[in-house]
Amino acid sequence: MLEITGIETFYGETQALFGPSLRVGEGEIVALLGPNGAGKTTTLRSILGLSPPRRGTIRFDGQDITRMATHRISRLGIGWVPDDRRVFPMLTGRRNLALGARRTRFRAWTQEEMCEVFPALQHLFSRDCEAMSGGELQMIAISRALLGSPGIVLFDEPSQGLAPKVVQDVLRTVRRMKSEGVSCLIVEQNALAALQVADRVYIMDRGRIVHDGPAQELLDNPAKRRRLIGM
Ligand code: ATP
Repeated sequence: MLEITGIETFYGETQALFGPSLRVGEGEIVALLGPNGAGKTTTLRSILGLSPPRRGTIRFDGQDITRMATHRISRLGIGWVPDDRRVFPMLTGRRNLALGARRTRFRAWTQEEMCEVFPALQHLFSRDCEAMSGGELQMIAISRALLGSPGIVLFDEPSQGLAPKVVQDVLRTVRRMKSEGVSCLIVEQNALAALQVADRVYIMDRGRIVHDGPAQELLDNPAKRRRLIGM
């Protein structure tokens, strides 16, 4: 589904990624963990065409997307749930959702289904996003991504700033997406939350992948987990 091979991404002359390779299979949930500044967000930005890599390749659904424009990448079926949500604050929930709606070759999701996933969503349709809490904005951001009919959704710190109950709602949604065949790549500081839903995990440090393996292995082996992610 998504395959990244040896990408090198720079901010000006500063190199942030030193050749990480990773893959996400169809309907697979992959967590990308690591300390601040490891390059997790830059990896997502590279996939989305916001910071295209200078070297290496990124393939999605059989196509080379390495230096494709961001709007074309999203039309192919790559959804994004950014850490700062990026909604239009002066627009209602409904208008923000409408802006994300798109058909691709992947499963189409409807507003009705999103209300079933998040029962509280229907109360947000007529409210302006500037009046919403962090958890409500996250519901809008996830629903907007799914209404874009993605084959894969990239999550940047989905649990950041959310109450534990809302984090569990987000994790439940990720499991539902998987059961419907949608792949997820999740960048998280809250490693334990990500490990609860992930099939596999990659750990980054200073722009490189330093570990990959099944998520269950880190859940079962606290000593190894502490050595690799410090928790
Ligand atoms: P965090 O969780 O703190 O966001 P991260 O693993 O997502 O960490 P990145 O944000 O991808 O890490 O940062 C990787 C490296 O790139 C860091 O050294 C960071 O300082 C640098 N970097 C990130 N954004 C920029 C930018 N806009 N300009 C210059 N350097 C940047």
